[in-house]
Amino acid sequence: MALRINPLVKKTPLSGIRQMSNRLPAHPGAVNLTVGQPDFPPPDEVKEAARRAIGERATGYSMNAGLPELREAASAYYGKKYGFSYNPATETVITAGGSGSMDAVLRTILEPGDEAIIPVPIYAGYEPLIRLAGATPVYLDTRRTRFVPDAAALEKLITPRTKVVIFNNPSNPTGVAIPKAEMDRLAEVLAKYEVYILSDDIYSENTFDAAHQSFGSYPALRDRLFLIHGLSKSHSMTGWRIGVLFGPAAVMKHIVKIHAYNAICAPTPSQYAAIAAYTGSSEATDKMNRAYIQRRQFLMTALKEMNLPIVRPTGAFYAFPSIEEFPITSQDFAIRALEEEGVAVVHGSAFTMYGEGHIRISYAASMDQLEKGMERLGTFVRKLRGDTRTIVPDPPQL
Ligand code: PMP
Repeated sequence: MALRINPLVKKTPLSGIRQMSNRLPAHPGAVNLTVGQPDFPPPDEVKEAARRAIGERATGYSMNAGLPELREAASAYYGKKYGFSYNPATETVITAGGSGSMDAVLRTILEPGDEAIIPVPIYAGYEPLIRLAGATPVYLDTRRTRFVPDAAALEKLITPRTKVVIFNNPSNPTGVAIPKAEMDRLAEVLAKYEVYILSDDIYSENTFDAAHQSFGSYPALRDRLFLIHGLSKSHSMTGWRIGVLFGPAAVMKHIVKIHAYNAICAPTPSQYAAIAAYTGSSEATDKMNRAYIQRRQFLMTALKEMNLPIVRPTGAFYAFPSIEEFPITSQDFAIRALEEEGVAVVHGSAFTMYGEGHIRISYAASMDQLEKGMERLGTFVRKLRGDTRTIVPDPPQL
């Protein structure tokens, strides 16, 4: 039979991140700095709670919105830290990863003809969801404001068709967190318009220079704000598929239907493990953050020695240096770095075309891998510049 596929789906690209990481099996021995997956095990108490759940056969469906104890634990954990209050019964939904939250919110609110503003460059997961809903992405260019979304520039983009403004704070791929002063300005603009706000705070627990700032701490935004949190990054639980969505009850009752028809519920053993994550100690997350801070220092030094300009990342675990000086696309740069020198990074254009001229380096990789990776990247960069001397960056004083 002829292929009769929804043209919007046909046009949807595969994630550029996966396009790069899928090349890795053909390059054994390559250093993989592509993935946004912490190189640490989940906390012991989390693993133990999952084993216990499986042993006790607590493995059936849960309520669609998630186990009530988990919703209570997650609402208390983030609420206390970030100064907001969401009712666990009516304003909290546990989804299959933050991805499940993104999908459920956007499918619930977007209609054909709507506009969705996204600060760019941004994580590749948003644009396809917006387009599949028949809506149009509108780009808020952050390149001239050190990757911080600028409130005045945002205001100029808001039209009567704007349905939602999306943030990702701290940002994948830039690693930049929005400073408090700019959050205040953004909140002031957003409060003036009838638009929803979706803030993807999946990296909220990975901030290094200042405490995470949440749009949840602005009461004027409460009836239009959705917050995405989760355990993939903070507790190294990517495969467990736990996301947490907070939002106003009047909309959440519709969102939960989309989540229910898509997933029924998040995986139940993972939900029991998640209770342990939210009620346990922060030791594992603190340990990861200490390692990320050391690695960031190493990367900043190594990239400086390579003369690749970079905006200092303040959160997540990505560095996003500029490779604009080279007369090749970021995709060619990434493919050649892998094929010629054995180091895999992600091309900036995987994060919309506004990421062109950059590469993303994930430092959720061991120091050993990072050292090897930077040595190889340095060799590649010098080769592109026509200089074949080998300079190895000094390891940082930690
Ligand atoms: N949002 C952002 C910005 C991400 O980087 C990721 C994962 N790379 C996700 C959402 C999805 O994470 P998960 O579904 O594993 O929670």
